[in-house]
Amino acid sequence: MNVLTKPEEELIQKEFENLILNCTHCESKTDQRLIRKAFRLAKEAHDGMRRKSGEPYILHPIAVAKIVTTEIGLGAKAVICAILHDVVEDTDYTIEDIENHFGKKVASIIDGLTKISDVFDNKSSLQAENFRKMLLTLSDDVRVILIKLADRLHNMRTLSSMPPNKQIKISGETTYLYAPLAHRLGLYAIKTELEDLSLKYRYPKVYQDLVSRITDNEKKRAHMINSFALPLIDKLENEGYDFDITGRPKSIYSTWNKMQTKNIPFEEIYDLLAIRIVFEGLEDVPEKTQCWNIYSIITDTYKPKPDRIRDWVSTPKANGYEALHVTVMGPEGKWVEVQIRSRRMDEIAERGFAAHWMYKQAGKGSSEGLDGWIKKIRELLENPDSNALEFLDDFKLNLFASEILVFTPKGHIKSLPKQATALDFAYEIHTEVGNRAIGAKINHKLVSLNHILYSGDQVEILTSDSQRASREWLYYVTTAKAKSAIKAAIKAENKDRIQKGKKLLEDKLNEYNLKPSGRIFKKLLPAYDVRTKDHLYSKIGTGIITLEDLKKILRKNTKNKWIRYWELQFTSSSKKPSTDKKSFDPAYSGAHFMIRENLDDTEAEFSIAKCCNPIPGDDVIGYRNQDGSVVIHKGKCPKAIKLMSSQGNRIVPAKWTTHKILSYLSRIHLQGVDKFGMYNNITTVISKELSVNMRNINLVSHDGIFEGSIDLYVHNTKDLNNLIMNLIKIKGVDSVKRVEKIED
Ligand code: MN
Repeated sequence: MNVLTKPEEELIQKEFENLILNCTHCESKTDQRLIRKAFRLAKEAHDGMRRKSGEPYILHPIAVAKIVTTEIGLGAKAVICAILHDVVEDTDYTIEDIENHFGKKVASIIDGLTKISDVFDNKSSLQAENFRKMLLTLSDDVRVILIKLADRLHNMRTLSSMPPNKQIKISGETTYLYAPLAHRLGLYAIKTELEDLSLKYRYPKVYQDLVSRITDNEKKRAHMINSFALPLIDKLENEGYDFDITGRPKSIYSTWNKMQTKNIPFEEIYDLLAIRIVFEGLEDVPEKTQCWNIYSIITDTYKPKPDRIRDWVSTPKANGYEALHVTVMGPEGKWVEVQIRSRRMDEIAERGFAAHWMYKQAGKGSSEGLDGWIKKIRELLENPDSNALEFLDDFKLNLFASEILVFTPKGHIKSLPKQATALDFAYEIHTEVGNRAIGAKINHKLVSLNHILYSGDQVEILTSDSQRASREWLYYVTTAKAKSAIKAAIKAENKDRIQKGKKLLEDKLNEYNLKPSGRIFKKLLPAYDVRTKDHLYSKIGTGIITLEDLKKILRKNTKNKWIRYWELQFTSSSKKPSTDKKSFDPAYSGAHFMIRENLDDTEAEFSIAKCCNPIPGDDVIGYRNQDGSVVIHKGKCPKAIKLMSSQGNRIVPAKWTTHKILSYLSRIHLQGVDKFGMYNNITTVISKELSVNMRNINLVSHDGIFEGSIDLYVHNTKDLNNLIMNLIKIKGVDSVKRVEKIED
């Protein structure tokens, strides 16, 4: 069944002879001999193999070879490689066999092709990694990529015999990777066909719909082209030009893409007329002169749009594209884009760099652009920070974007993707210029970093040593180079900030005799609305979080608000507590407890008695409960006195540590004559007292008398006494007393 039938044998032979006939640069005897040898080897190797469609396998490599030479313009070596491209991968032949028969060069290209053959068959991250490797081979021999593209093109052309799920997968890869690659290599025709075929299989209905709409509009379009071209044809002929005028067909995919991305109806896109004039270059006259001469003829007839001239003749695009574009007002009052190209330029535009090389000896042009591109890709690939997948996304971005050309202050040209900003340009110059950029001068006018550049802009970057890259810059830039540089700078910067913030927080906590702990972070993270410690440190480091309210926050979430901020600490002081005479004379001399802030440990084994509500400065004693926790009473508290007499063994001496950091809740009672402005006078006095904060005011007045209480945060008795003195001075205030017992 697998044996070839006679008609099949004949078909294969016919296809092969056709390939030989159409092969460019294959004229030499040696070339012919090697191509035939490759054909025999491949035919033998693939013997018995058939494609999904049922046709003999060997027809595929022949077809790929034909694309390679007739559509890309490559010579004998590439044809040989294309014929052999699946031999090592799919048959028993090895790279060594190939080398023995065809030499080192062919073997290394086949090796490259074999290695990248299932680049896209795996998981996405692996894909990216492989894609990266594939691009690294670019500089070794660009033919590997070109043959790969031809292979993909033939597979797309014959995709109908594949099952639908494979069709969609293969089409997806083609849109995502192969078409942009073809575009970047300047293979415009192949790029367009790959895109259109992908669309056909990914969205069959959309595709068919567009095809029929385009067919329906064909007549109208032909008429538009004719009425535009007629006046030009005469004039161009009079000038002695040999030329073709065609309506540039908009590809199905690009029509669809525009409808999607710009949300424009089909008619509007399709109505946009684009005309191409391809002329046979006259000898002895520079092509550039001829282009501008034709431009002049066109604009004698149709008025040009001044800001829509694109001179890709003086400065070709990085992928080698050359042409002069001009937009003029057409006969029906519509803008028409006209592309002016010599035959040579047209070849390059349609067939890419290979064609470019073919014309190399004919004058200007070289593979400079391609080298520049490969250099850029290498820069990206060599950045160890770039995560492979991120790289792929960024790279894709670059592939899709078309270019602009801008100038440095010294007049050097930089090519950037469309939509690139001043900041992109800064990073294009140098990473450090990017990181230190504060603004730019475009054509001597000051602009911000996110200013979008246009072709022809002359850009000067202003820098400052104190400038730092910031996260929002990622929204300012388009190029992969700038993106990865900013990400790297932020990473480094953030490390510094975290260190700085950590130090600041530790110092601040240290003022309160605290150390960072899980418990503290449990309070701080939600209070400052951050998720991680590092995030907190980083915000402190930048100054977004000032730590002014640290104290408040540390208090906030505690269940027993005021009590738990203090702890009793046993000290082995030999002296008696230096409190005044009224203080409790401890039964156990020589040792006392220090009451000090404890913001950290909410499980501290102590509490402050509600019956007398002591604050720092009050004479205090401690009473040890059954469970070992200590309750702090004022020394003169009746309850405490009772405890001392009845349970003296449980009484422990206690002393406040001296500091003024924490505020302490206290209550005062006021009474007086209710006069106009009394409330205001009271609150003014309280607010003037810097060390006192008001929490709650609760005054009632009846029959001209006011009475009530005010809750305050104070540091200690001294502050509280000061306040009481000042309140009493207010006219109408009769009495101000501290309330010993606070019931919340
Ligand atoms: Mn293949």
